[in-house]
Amino acid sequence: MTLLNSSSLPKTADVVILGAGVMGASIAFHLAKRKAGKIVVLDKDHVGRGGSGRSSALVRMHYSFPAEVELALISLRMFQNWQDVVGAPGNFRRTGFVRIVHPNETARLKLNVEMQCRLGATVELIDKRQLHELEPDWDVDDVQLAAYEPDSGYGDGAGVAGDLLTAARDMGTIYASRTQATALHVNDDRVRSVVTDQGAISSPIVIAATGPWTRPLMQQVGYDVPIECEYHQVAILRNAPGMRGGGCACIDSVTATYFRSDAHDKFLVGDFYGKRPVDPDNFPQRASDESLEEIIERACRRVPKLEGSEVMRGVTGVYDMTPDSRPLLGEIPGIRGLFVCAGFSGMGFKISPAIGQVMSELVLDGKVRSVDINPFRPNRFAENAPIKAEYEYVDD
Ligand SMILES: Cc1cc2nc3c(=O)[nH]c(=O)nc-3n(C[C@H](O)[C@H](O)[C@H](O)COP(=O)(O)OP(=O)(O)OC[C@H]3O[C@@H](n4cnc5c(N)ncnc54)[C@H](O)[C@@H]3O)c2cc1C
Repeated sequence: MTLLNSSSLPKTADVVILGAGVMGASIAFHLAKRKAGKIVVLDKDHVGRGGSGRSSALVRMHYSFPAEVELALISLRMFQNWQDVVGAPGNFRRTGFVRIVHPNETARLKLNVEMQCRLGATVELIDKRQLHELEPDWDVDDVQLAAYEPDSGYGDGAGVAGDLLTAARDMGTIYASRTQATALHVNDDRVRSVVTDQGAISSPIVIAATGPWTRPLMQQVGYDVPIECEYHQVAILRNAPGMRGGGCACIDSVTATYFRSDAHDKFLVGDFYGKRPVDPDNFPQRASDESLEEIIERACRRVPKLEGSEVMRGVTGVYDMTPDSRPLLGEIPGIRGLFVCAGFSGMGFKISPAIGQVMSELVLDGKVRSVDINPFRPNRFAENAPIKAEYEYVDD
């Protein structure tokens, strides 16, 4: 495979995808599978170098909004069959996943698990004793019920983006790294071309999978996507002596942390909450010692043995947050052919394989059959119709 230089950037395309994170790569993969013509992917940096390469990459089916469960299920099937579907070994690790909610939200937990089972997820409610048997290192005295998914786990954002893009390129997709879209040309209510720092490409279809960079790009064509950038820090620790490695991933509302094993000898801890605003092109690359200590201290309440763990490093990154913490998927109103696929609010990795599928259906067929993504339409905030799940948690 060759890297393009500026003189070889095509002048025309059938579809231009902006961004080679997990979303752009997944869209390219699904479009290429459907032989959607000349597909060009541009990234101002390199594949997976945005939020995707910094992702904690938890994979779980536990959502309170049914369409998200459906997207997670389609994606899980792809993660489980990566070699057959994508042609690469893949990095998905099945560790199991546990969701712990605030004690006063246990009724919601039950209802959400019921809904997830109806949709085909393998998930069960487990009590304190069962959770203790599953994870003897965890302090679960305060947990009456938790949701347990034996098939979930975690993956690797840069790996998924790279694998999907490689497969798309093998099917003919053209990829230009270090090529930044600087403007979009719209005429007669249609997108006509993308201007880049390496030349222009005319195309009837342009898909912005540009994560935290999406808002300024769309503002140029007069459309405001309400995405705010939020700074997050993650700690990677070496397991303390006596800690059982390779355990379940967990999202824990009580400590407001999420955590998972990282291979058999390491442990990853992330925070529910971040800081806004942040510049996605200029944020601290090194996590602060105080912040990591504070996050780890909270996780220690759940996993006391972490106290003896050594901090190996921190990971920092930016979430592209929307007001309802759900993505914006669809055509920009009033601009035919211009699509947005962004705003994944810190949880896009696990649904990325399915997002490429639904976006390819939307672009090629004009409607999506596999999952109803209409609730995610970009205009929902202007219509005062943000997504609110029936049994939403306070920290969803
Ligand atoms: C610290 C952290 C932890 C996370 N943990 C999880 C988790 O446990 N589970 C989970 O499911 N999700 C998680 N996420 C979220 C998940 O990683 C993201 O939702 C997902 O990676 C978003 O992918 P993307 O392709 O939309 O964006 P990105 O990966 O950010 O890709 C956007 C790409 O667009 C390119 N670009 C931007 N502007 C332009 C332009 N003008 N021209 C050309 N290219 C452009 C960028 O260079 C970038 O490569 C986490 C995210 C972070 C940061």
